[in-house]
Amino acid sequence: MTKVPELFGSKVFNDRVMRERLPGTTYKALKKTIENGEPLDISVANVVANAMKDWAVEQGCTHFTHWFQPMTGVTAEKHDSFIQPNGDGVIMEFSGKELIKGEPDASSFPSGSIRATYEARGYTTWDPTSPAFVRDGSLYIPTAFCSYTGEVLDKKTPLLRSMERLSTEAVKILHLLGKTDVKRVATTVGPEQEYFLIDKELYDQRVDLKLTGRTLFGAKAPKGQELEDHYFGAIKARVAAYMKELDEELWKLGVLAKTKHNEVAPSQHELAPIFSTSNIATDHNELTMEIMQKVAERHNLVCLLHEKPFKGVNGSGKHNNWSISTNTGENLLSPGKHPESNVQFLLFLAAVVKAVDEYQDLLRITVASAGNDHRLGANEAPPAIISMYLGDDLDALVHSIIDGNSYESHGREKMQTGVEVLADFMKDNSDRNRTSPFAFTGNKFEFRALGSSLNIACPNYMLNTMVADELSQFYDELKDAENVQEAAKEVIRKTFTAHQRIIFNGDNYSDEWVAEAEKRGLLNLKSLPEALAHFLDKKNVDLFVKHNICSEDELRARYEIDLEAYSKQLNIEALTMLDMAKKDILPAVTAYIREQVDAALAKKALSSSISAAVEEKLAEKLSEKQLRFVELTEELAQVTAEAAKVDEPLEQAFAYRNNVFAKMEELRSVGDSIEEDMSGEYWPYPSYTELLFGV
Ligand code: ADP
Ligand code: MG
Repeated sequence: MTKVPELFGSKVFNDRVMRERLPGTTYKALKKTIENGEPLDISVANVVANAMKDWAVEQGCTHFTHWFQPMTGVTAEKHDSFIQPNGDGVIMEFSGKELIKGEPDASSFPSGSIRATYEARGYTTWDPTSPAFVRDGSLYIPTAFCSYTGEVLDKKTPLLRSMERLSTEAVKILHLLGKTDVKRVATTVGPEQEYFLIDKELYDQRVDLKLTGRTLFGAKAPKGQELEDHYFGAIKARVAAYMKELDEELWKLGVLAKTKHNEVAPSQHELAPIFSTSNIATDHNELTMEIMQKVAERHNLVCLLHEKPFKGVNGSGKHNNWSISTNTGENLLSPGKHPESNVQFLLFLAAVVKAVDEYQDLLRITVASAGNDHRLGANEAPPAIISMYLGDDLDALVHSIIDGNSYESHGREKMQTGVEVLADFMKDNSDRNRTSPFAFTGNKFEFRALGSSLNIACPNYMLNTMVADELSQFYDELKDAENVQEAAKEVIRKTFTAHQRIIFNGDNYSDEWVAEAEKRGLLNLKSLPEALAHFLDKKNVDLFVKHNICSEDELRARYEIDLEAYSKQLNIEALTMLDMAKKDILPAVTAYIREQVDAALAKKALSSSISAAVEEKLAEKLSEKQLRFVELTEELAQVTAEAAKVDEPLEQAFAYRNNVFAKMEELRSVGDSIEEDMSGEYWPYPSYTELLFGV
């Protein structure tokens, strides 16, 4: 086997390959583009393209593809071969123009109301900040995607813009504070990815998993996660073989896959990479999800990325670990030894606190999806209420700043806020609060409300933009101050005081918190339609427009696309349920009832002294449930048809949530109770026991 250091990045057109294969001047020009965002000359692009092509062909590639992230939630690619006619034959060619720009037909990608107003043509443009790579005989070029007239149609463009904005605003603040050597800052992300692995043969027998990614029926297995024996448990051989191959595939593609372990639910696992810049972390997370599914096939497994494949056990999320660091190597969210006198840290912390409080709705919106609605607020993921956890020490510090009191760390040494030399700050002094949606974990924030299948670009561009905005406000307050340090302390005190309601260190799963949060005026947006209703609130539109992340039209398009995707998903789920009910479940129940009746008759025919009570009772009980099941099937068909007719997107999403989803839950509960009563032989689908304990 090749050693990992040689394997790592072997399929990536990375810095090492560029240095080896590009002329010095070309390399330098490209580095300037990558590091400082300077435009790339076409003559330089031609040289880069040619070197990329030669390298890719050596790796067995025949094609290239512009790889992009449209609003569908999955990545898109269209492959073109390198061939150019040459006499009787062909040669392999790739131009700078082809590298820089592609023109996929945009008309079939979701574009919301933009579609009506603008032409359907779209462009993909090379993103040189994320390295190209080879996969399955193609050279993959990460790109951004926009319409012919420049409207943003993807998830990457706003992310790149937001990173720029945050960099600009953070640098301004740092310069004010005397750090004039800092030229750029970058946001960094480490996304922890949860997933389920189940047996392919069982999966193939579940139409619900195939069409919707989750089980729509399924009685609880006698054993779930209550023994807590799966979490961090020994990894089974078949899963270990899968994980090993997955790691290797990811390493080849330059993904820093680091940690793997079993998760809480049976058959559930997690993979975490080492963090990188938000942009690369996003591309790598998309790649990771794709490779996870592909490698699973080779092991006769299926990797489920849905947020809630199984009722009654934990669903899957994604923890978005986020921080900001400078080009000089400083993590701006690192408290250092003396956070109480670290004005720079406290100022950035205050910006995040203010952002999370003012844009709770956006953070909630950005993690909303049909799948994630099953998790948020269901005592397994963080609740739908957005709040922040700072840890005991930092919380005490923030409160001492608000109150102007002395600050006491772990009851050790008394300290006066703001004075210079104080005792050591303990970074990880308190138990980590696993229930908080937005937790400070030492030198980064961990946003934990993301669903497992989500593209992390959206939460990150929102987070970056809102923090950039707060920093620009701070800058305006500080730029003319005579004593910046003192003025900054005042901004910090004011900000913590005004936004302390967002900080909550207790148990986010408790009912008391729901009541307390309401008293504090925090939002509790329980489902996607409730959250999306706030998307176009003036303050949100103003934020994105002010920072040039999205126009109002583009935001409206995003809003409509999200709502439509939600309604469509629920529509597919309802229709799949109806199909399962009518085609499989009802006939199976009838057959099983008939068997009971036949058995009862046979017993009676044998002798009048043999009791047929068991069969008769079961047949009776099941036919009662079956009747209720049929009624609910008809009701579900009706509410689904009605919801499909609603025109206005938000109203429609509410119709699906309040009527269709609610009816699906009712139908499921009767279906599951029928499954409990039936023989496994007659039930048409593999059971939860088989699915969850089958690998
Ligand atoms: P856990 O939360 O499971 O204890 P860690 O704290 O080690 O795990 O890290 C979780 C994730 O956070 C990893 O992907 C790690 O790379 C990432 N991470 C660590 N430091 C940073 C940072 N400065 N910025 C972004 N992500 C980070
Ligand atoms: Mg974590």
